[in-house]
Amino acid sequence: MSLTAAATTTTSSLGHKLWKAYLRQFCIRKISMPKGILLDRDGVLIENRPDYIKSIGEVQIIPGVPQSIAKLWKAGYTISIVSNQAGIAKGLYSLEAVHEIHAHLEQQFRMYGDGPLHWYICPHRDEDQCACRKPKPGMLQKAMQNSGLVPGLTWMVGDNKHDIAAGQSAGCRTALVHTGLGKSQTFDPGKAPDWIGAAMPDFVDYLLSK
Ligand SMILES: [Mg+2]
Ligand SMILES: [Zn+2]
Repeated sequence: MSLTAAATTTTSSLGHKLWKAYLRQFCIRKISMPKGILLDRDGVLIENRPDYIKSIGEVQIIPGVPQSIAKLWKAGYTISIVSNQAGIAKGLYSLEAVHEIHAHLEQQFRMYGDGPLHWYICPHRDEDQCACRKPKPGMLQKAMQNSGLVPGLTWMVGDNKHDIAAGQSAGCRTALVHTGLGKSQTFDPGKAPDWIGAAMPDFVDYLLSK
């Protein structure tokens, strides 16, 4: 009788241990789920220009942005930059010029820290009817798929209502910054961003304090 009881206890305790191990594995998976953020480029990371940013000489980084990128990396975020660059389709600058600008920016950012950084651009115009030009969600969806990001846990940060609309269509949470075109943007009822603030570094501080 006592032997049977002991055996039962052992079995039950083993089952409990296995169950706990199973749960722990599940929790670890949940914790290690990749964290990511999608950022517009012009008006969020660098100052906008009405005649497009055509070369490195025209790049003006918004104060605090490289340090904030480093903060995101330190907190484990994968950063994807999703940028409409219709100036390519319009023949105002080349894809190579865009790559040079991105290499320059990346060099500036990596002076403050290190981590995953991915660049996505849409080189098309509205009339090309591509799937990637914001406000369509294609570029954001591709970025999230490539980094294994869950839309509901991913923020899209932009200065244009098209960034916000693209983020909402992709199922992201959205943040509007008042740099670039941000201050002049208006939203239909129910289409407002989840967060509105002065600049990208302010959003990063908000996100990391949550
Ligand atoms: Mg912009
Ligand atoms: Zn496109």
